[in-house]
Amino acid sequence: MSGITILGSTGSIGVNTLDVIRQHPGRYEVVALTAHTSVDKLYEQCLEWHPRYAVLRDESAAEQLQNRLASSLPDIEVLAGEAGLEKVAALPEVSIVMAAIVGAAGLLSTLAAAQAGKKVLLANKEALVMSGQLFMDAISRNQATLLPIDSEHNAIFQCLFNQDKNAVERILLTASGGPFRTWSPEQLADVTPAQACAHPNWEMGRKISVDSATMMNKGLEVIEAHWLFNLPTEQIEVLIHPQSVIHSLVEYADGSLLAQLGNPDMRTPIAYGLAWPQRMASGVARLDLTRVAKLNFEAADFSRFPCLQLAYEALIAGGTTTTILNAANEVAVDAFLNQKLAFTQIAAIIEQTLGHISGRPAQTLEVILEDDQQAREFATAKLT
Ligand code: NAD
Ligand code: MG
Repeated sequence: MSGITILGSTGSIGVNTLDVIRQHPGRYEVVALTAHTSVDKLYEQCLEWHPRYAVLRDESAAEQLQNRLASSLPDIEVLAGEAGLEKVAALPEVSIVMAAIVGAAGLLSTLAAAQAGKKVLLANKEALVMSGQLFMDAISRNQATLLPIDSEHNAIFQCLFNQDKNAVERILLTASGGPFRTWSPEQLADVTPAQACAHPNWEMGRKISVDSATMMNKGLEVIEAHWLFNLPTEQIEVLIHPQSVIHSLVEYADGSLLAQLGNPDMRTPIAYGLAWPQRMASGVARLDLTRVAKLNFEAADFSRFPCLQLAYEALIAGGTTTTILNAANEVAVDAFLNQKLAFTQIAAIIEQTLGHISGRPAQTLEVILEDDQQAREFATAKLT
């Protein structure tokens, strides 16, 4: 049995991970489950999975969970705060860590898993966008294994596996274009959080849904791909593919394009990561190509989706510029979700923040956290 910690077990990726594990009794032992404030959901998960540890980032939520478990499951150790998250990411009895916290909040625990030499299943792209080289160094220095769960990167990983890496000419990250792919700029100005969170092909958490709607998600993924696959910006392209059936492609020197296809369901990349280098059932319905019938492609429209352009520019600028981009985006998306910012102002806040705070070499965690904080403060001040 492989011991697993799921960071962010109550979220969309966390729940899908447990769904895949449920299909393979005796293969994985759920050692630790974590959430931010969701006492009810984590309590339910504790009843089903009996983990050794349950962690809530929020201290008072942890106290509530402790009280509820005291009578039913007193042997589950309840931990709180960042220290609790980092502890369960590095437990000796754990070999696999699913990093599925959303946003910068997942950085330290994901890094702790890398430093502890775990098999890290990376869903939390923001951690890599923030800390790039530092994170990749932690993986290699500690002989950790990094497996991308983001569907595009998982597809590329599959298309690169056992191939001649020197013959890669470019990778094509597919993007559905989100719910507003065909909307006019005027229509975009009035977008509501509910509209932005209704993605045409994927069911996801609220933050990544908004990122998909602005296409910042694809921008973050370009940055993620740069670090994961050690490729320069010029070799990473975005291709709009509204059906989300081809999850991404790799083009080789001989003109071959390798793609990975499947129904848009995160349980495929999750099962791939869990079982790697083997494969196992995921519960995902088979793709019926005769029903799909047609696959469409178009170029990405950078002018209508300025977040994509900002992400490319941040990657080229390098250092902590991507940290600043990510932090400003998190502040702006949160404000949009709380109806304090118009949809089209998200890009404006990020651009202003990038214009005000200069990136610098991202050599230490202190520098990264400092620039993250500075960007958050600036972006927050711009909201009012
Ligand atoms: P979600 O909002 O559904 O879940 C987030 C999880 O993180 C929850 O368990 C929540 O309790 C926890 N969390 C939130 N804030 C926290 C904090 N401050 N401290 C500790 N824990 C906290 O998000 P999601 O859609 O599951 O996405 C998770 C990550 O996976 C994101 O980085 C996202 O970009 C990435 N991802 C998601 C999908 C998807 O289909 N949902 C696809 C690709 C990548
Ligand atoms: Mg993705």
